[in-house]
Amino acid sequence: MSDYIVRATALEGKLRAFGAITTRLVEEIRRRQQATPVATAAIGRAATAGAMMGVMLKGDDRLTIQVKGNGPIGQILVDANAKGEVRAYATNPQVDLPLNAAGKLDVAGAVGTDGFLYVIKDLGLKEPYRGSVQIVSGELGEDFAYYFAQSEQTPSVVGVGVLVDRDYTVKTAGGFIVQLLPGVAEEDIAYIEQQLSGLPSVTSLLSEGTTPEQILTRLIPGNVKFHETIPVLFRCTCNRERLIGVLVSLGVNELRRLLEEDQGAELVCSFCKEKYAFSGEELETLIDRIEQK
Ligand SMILES: [Zn+2]
Repeated sequence: MSDYIVRATALEGKLRAFGAITTRLVEEIRRRQQATPVATAAIGRAATAGAMMGVMLKGDDRLTIQVKGNGPIGQILVDANAKGEVRAYATNPQVDLPLNAAGKLDVAGAVGTDGFLYVIKDLGLKEPYRGSVQIVSGELGEDFAYYFAQSEQTPSVVGVGVLVDRDYTVKTAGGFIVQLLPGVAEEDIAYIEQQLSGLPSVTSLLSEGTTPEQILTRLIPGNVKFHETIPVLFRCTCNRERLIGVLVSLGVNELRRLLEEDQGAELVCSFCKEKYAFSGEELETLIDRIEQK
């Protein structure tokens, strides 16, 4: 099954929901980051939530999620947009931890249970929207739910999961977000809670061939109306021009040092791991350009 996100509403528009399958996206992130299983699960959960939050946006709007916990994975960064394009990385994708007490990949151990979750939305306005909440669990699904409740005043249920295969590739990944807008009846909330408590994990549902649509139908009371389906794709926006900007920001002294010691520079994009080589000549041109300013 190709990756996609489906957008749905129910209860006369008082409930909106997103269901996602992101297996290929998370596998591509794993491969590019050479991530361990626990890091794959952590980055993949954040990327899946990010992908769904991306399609909540419109047009050319985009968002960045930063998970800055006190765990050994360091920072997780996710970029996503309304077109379903996503990229993500972690500072330390090589983090390896024993399974947790439940015999599962210890995502909270990797992320840490203390720290902040930041959401920065570029909505084409002068100032980007910034929201942040404290990390409450480190397992990430709950943390995103807490973010929606606290920062966007939208009570939400978030389920995100990544199942890593024996050969360390991604077997399944996906998730859902169900959001309650004002006016939802108590009995409908109780119904969702009851359905949730009996719901197997997203990854076991997806592994059995359950579709995101079926998961949402199971969770949501009444008739679910499915709207558009958005394909999800890994896409990095790095290019040579941007990395020249990074080199310039290093300053003349550092560029001189690179020129003398390495006769050039090689930069690697944190997200896609693409390498960009700059010759000594190119560095000299850059130094001249900066000094002439
Ligand atoms: Zn890149």
